[in-house]
Amino acid sequence: MPLSRLQHFTGRDLSVKTPAELFDEGCKDWGLGPRTPEEISKSPVFQEAATLADILIRETFRTNDIQGLVPIHFDFIHSDQMNAVADIRAGTGLVGVTDGSIFLITDIFRRLLSHPLVLPHIGNAPAESINAYHQDGISQTCEVLAKKRAAENRPVVPPPPNDPVREACALVMSRLALEFLITHELAHIVRGHVGYIYDSVGIPYMLEFRSHGMQKPPAAFDPIVRQALEVDADRIAVVNTLRIANMAKEGNLRQKWNGIISSSQEAIYIWNFAIGWLFYLWGLEVDFDEMDKYDHPPSGLRDLEAVATAMTVMEKNWPELLADFKEAYPRSKHEIMRSVIAIGGTCTQSRWVEYGEAASDNRALQHQELVSNTWNAIRPHVNEHSFMELAP
Ligand SMILES: [Zn+2]
Repeated sequence: MPLSRLQHFTGRDLSVKTPAELFDEGCKDWGLGPRTPEEISKSPVFQEAATLADILIRETFRTNDIQGLVPIHFDFIHSDQMNAVADIRAGTGLVGVTDGSIFLITDIFRRLLSHPLVLPHIGNAPAESINAYHQDGISQTCEVLAKKRAAENRPVVPPPPNDPVREACALVMSRLALEFLITHELAHIVRGHVGYIYDSVGIPYMLEFRSHGMQKPPAAFDPIVRQALEVDADRIAVVNTLRIANMAKEGNLRQKWNGIISSSQEAIYIWNFAIGWLFYLWGLEVDFDEMDKYDHPPSGLRDLEAVATAMTVMEKNWPELLADFKEAYPRSKHEIMRSVIAIGGTCTQSRWVEYGEAASDNRALQHQELVSNTWNAIRPHVNEHSFMELAP
């Protein structure tokens, strides 16, 4: 990033503040909640996510051709909603993930893998048994689940799967989903999205889901431009998380994942299931009347876009794995549909059909084309703020 652009950020605040203080300041602007108290953020699940973020931040520095990237601080926001944010202030990049994101992602894969009829080919599925948590359904806030469980005198956190392989698989899947989310936020900083937004409308951050407390984006800001940036961030997250397929091929997975993912076929299937579920948690709507108004393309279309990116990445980098991907994708989608029902979700078969029809509707395709053309138009300007030139 040229120094003149960096000064947009550094010049705003010349006082000396620690990254944590800057994060606290950001929390006030984002309107989601304060920084998560240490008794929560120091718990093992949160520490695991923080370590993952540190690794990603270091890998982002190391593996890409990145110049002059601002230091990046990762932390948690005390909110039970599913949300995340990317911000640059006083020359420091901030990535925040809500407690709700950590909790809901961990919760869903625990419940899925502890159900004997979900992913029955993984580990010893008959060792699992159906419990009350499988009736809880799906929610985008922790509060709904927590209230339900408290009312029935159940612990807030569901029990892990009984079978050790399935327990490890649940961890791998939540890790993949979190990695997708955190990389998406890092991409907003590294790819120049935050810089571009700041330059265009004077807001130095990007929230995934709008909070009640945040300032409304100026009317002049075209939601399609924002959607183009979101699709780009998803692309980076796809490229990054998909590396597990190739790592499995080379027998090079991090030690923790070995023994669960032994082949690239398994890795590709698990990737599809985990990322597909993440998009499902974000919603499954394709609303033609509203889709020009939101910050993100409908999550159903984002899901399809992510899969299309994945296939392009496979074809370009690991063509020998493309056939595996094409085979795993419909199989994992089918399993997602089954597993939604298994954990008390109310998504009926006709709803899936409705979604499938909407996603392949001409209006959806036209919308994707509009977002893609918009990206091509703004890309040179976004690149002026980018720290990397990697083009997936
Ligand atoms: Zn985003």
